[in-house]
Amino acid sequence: MSGKTGLLEQAIIGAAKIIDQAQDQINQAIAELGEDSTVGFPGTAYNLPIYHGITGKTVGRLTDLKVILNELKLDLKQENSIENATSAGIASIIAIEILEAAKYAGNRMPYNPPYTGFVPDSTLRGLGVKLVNGDIPGISVIAGTAPTLEAARTICQEAQKRGLLSLLSGPITEQASRANLTMGLDSLLIPLGPELTSIEHAANLAVRVALTFGAVKPGDKDAIISYLKGKVPAFIVVLGPLDGPTISLGLGATALGLTIVTDQPSAEPLGINVEQNPSEIIAKACEVRGIKTHLIEVPIPTGFSRAFEGKRIRKEQMYVEFGGGKTPYFELLQITEPKDVEDGKVSVIGPEIDSMEGGKAYPLGILIEVAGESTEKTFEPMLERRIHEIINYGEETWHIAQRDKGWVRISKEGFKKGFKIHHFGTMIQNVLKSDYPSLVKKIQVTIFTEEDKVRKMLEKAQTTYSSRDAKVTYLSDEDVNKFYSCILCQSFAPNHVCVITPERDGLCGTVTYTDAATGHKIRGGVGANQPIPKGKAINEDRGEWEDVDKFVREASHGETERVSLYSLMIYPTTSCGCFECISIYLPECHGLVIVSREFKEETPVGMRFSTLAGIIGGQTPGILGHSKKWIVSKKFFRADGGIKRIVWMPSDLKDQLKDDLRRRCQEEGAPDLYDKIADENHARKLEDLLDWLKRVNHPVLNMPPLEH
Ligand code: SF4
Ligand code: ZN
Repeated sequence: MSGKTGLLEQAIIGAAKIIDQAQDQINQAIAELGEDSTVGFPGTAYNLPIYHGITGKTVGRLTDLKVILNELKLDLKQENSIENATSAGIASIIAIEILEAAKYAGNRMPYNPPYTGFVPDSTLRGLGVKLVNGDIPGISVIAGTAPTLEAARTICQEAQKRGLLSLLSGPITEQASRANLTMGLDSLLIPLGPELTSIEHAANLAVRVALTFGAVKPGDKDAIISYLKGKVPAFIVVLGPLDGPTISLGLGATALGLTIVTDQPSAEPLGINVEQNPSEIIAKACEVRGIKTHLIEVPIPTGFSRAFEGKRIRKEQMYVEFGGGKTPYFELLQITEPKDVEDGKVSVIGPEIDSMEGGKAYPLGILIEVAGESTEKTFEPMLERRIHEIINYGEETWHIAQRDKGWVRISKEGFKKGFKIHHFGTMIQNVLKSDYPSLVKKIQVTIFTEEDKVRKMLEKAQTTYSSRDAKVTYLSDEDVNKFYSCILCQSFAPNHVCVITPERDGLCGTVTYTDAATGHKIRGGVGANQPIPKGKAINEDRGEWEDVDKFVREASHGETERVSLYSLMIYPTTSCGCFECISIYLPECHGLVIVSREFKEETPVGMRFSTLAGIIGGQTPGILGHSKKWIVSKKFFRADGGIKRIVWMPSDLKDQLKDDLRRRCQEEGAPDLYDKIADENHARKLEDLLDWLKRVNHPVLNMPPLEH
């Protein structure tokens, strides 16, 4: 039997094995919970995402799963052809989804930390935004067993260095933790589960990306495949000996449009990419999948990469420390005249690390000067905040907090390897120049370690912090003559435009006015964030301006003619699907019910978040998706009566916004309003809500109905 025929046979037998294994899992679940027990993963609107995506169908009970598995088994064809092996592969992908779903049956939670198991929709959405705007260049799924611990570490770090988010499945999870790698979202390493079937949680994530961001209709298998092939920057690295089930899953994943690279040359006859060198395999996968990443090379004697971001330097490991309330400390970034900046210069004023005594705390001040125009001063805080990550990217350096509250440590190991104070400057310069080429043209760093000098500069820094804070707090929509657009979501909601103003962030809650302004600047004027001049006011109260209308009309390809930024009822803005909350007008009491994505139960409107989200499309007066922060904005549906209209919110949301919401109630002359807004503990049904409003004498009772 030739290599290829042998592999095909193994794949078909492997699929049968997986189906059997899934059947066992279901029988076990049925024995424990009964066959009518409910199935579905927690935190998703897509039921069993792969099955739902491929077939358009949903399942409700354990016994349904049994039926599907029987069908899959009957459909397996024994003859060794590539077609049969491929269909068997897809069958095995569905089978592991069913297997994993059986583990979750009856609302059980089969995975314990550090393992994540199923990734909820909310995490997926956050990731989606990061993928679209390039914060994360791609996703690598790493499964199987690396040849050695060293190889496991190298492979994971190669992925981390490139800023890829890695999902680990099977024995590699344990190898990575034995190789002392820190797991978690911060370090970009997520262990899905210790068994290989946990790879299903990466596969169903990919399918949900297509359904959520690709606007692919469930059941349209071809559209899913073409979306996964063309739009999802992800690949799977399969490590270690290949058995039948693994080959079968590999063929299935390939058929669904995913890219696979393995370290096993035996897979070559199936056309699967092979790379045996652990330090090359991630680079190879990126190349095959067309993922562009940029590696920053920083010339310092210790390691430097995003991989180290999540690490700690404990007291015993520390050589010296700075700030943290023990010594004076500051970090300050200033945009100044180009003539005052000598590009690439790093100077240390005061003692270097060699003349510091181990175990002690010393004063430190970091002054970064970037050449730019005075209009660019608004970017100072954003650039300054990067210091935190940059110092943590250092293998032997650690940072927490910011400004004059910062706290920095250098490890003993770092001191031994020759790390010097001036290397902080090298790190900061290299990253900022590489990440913001159009903003950071020239940069110099001065580091103070002499107590008197630090104290003197600290005063100056504190003045700058307070004047910045004052500006931020008071910047209102009236203070600016231009807003910004965000059209990142047009990749899946082709006519959606977010208009971002100082008092109104993007509906996903991740893009503020400063973010949009920065986005515009750092991409050199092209991209999703464009300035929108306000132009003549059509109705200032409702937030409608001539030039904003004109911009939105063009950017929405003629779909949205007019928008008012401060009204739910008259020409409201559109919603793309990423909103954190939904506001809906309740005609029975003329009030607004707000529900956030995390709240899974039914609202007094008689619908859940997911159902409401399905109703919103384009411009729909009376229902709108928005961020959490919008609720506490002074402009919040001002034209409709503002926050006095709010009658109901989930208690968690109310609690999250507590301080700001109380302040806003005060400002609106209704200090007791906060306590009059009902949550699920006061009312779950419309009648209960109406009773509650009367009982507390809610201000909405005296407000007129809204019309559109
Ligand atoms: Fe999408 Fe709007 Fe958020 Fe931009 S601001 S990412 S368009 S939801
Ligand atoms: Zn969106």
